[in-house]
Amino acid sequence: MSETIFTKIINKSIPADILYEDDEALAFSDINPQAPVHFLVIPKKPIATLNDLHSDDKALIGHLYWVASHLAKQMGFAAQGYRAVMNCNEDGGQTVYHIHLHILAGKAMGWPPYQAQLKTL
Ligand code: 5GP
Repeated sequence: MSETIFTKIINKSIPADILYEDDEALAFSDINPQAPVHFLVIPKKPIATLNDLHSDDKALIGHLYWVASHLAKQMGFAAQGYRAVMNCNEDGGQTVYHIHLHILAGKAMGWPPYQAQLKTL
């Protein structure tokens, strides 16, 4: 997999507002926030898309969600709620090919994200 901007953030060769770090994961504020709170939780292991997960990555993905909930409690929006979403490939809206969990909070999120157009016969 070719290097992405997130590898540079992991290596600290470019700056980011880092919220959490351990041996396996990193969380940092999104540079272009789409909600009052918007950060990304990424594995340090470079995995391009959800489609590239192997069975031995299952615990790692669980860990990303644990980091998200840990930060939600620490930052004080856990009870109010939040969106945790991973985009995959073009139709999913993925632009950086190093998997990342978006955490969005601080306002009520809309659902569904796509409203199918109703056909009138
Ligand atoms: P995607 O569209 O792949 O699901 O999400 C990629 C996210 O990464 C976007 O929300 C975008 O704003 C964020 N992003 C892209 N480049 C950078 C960067 O250099 N620093 C930070 N902090 N976020 C970035």
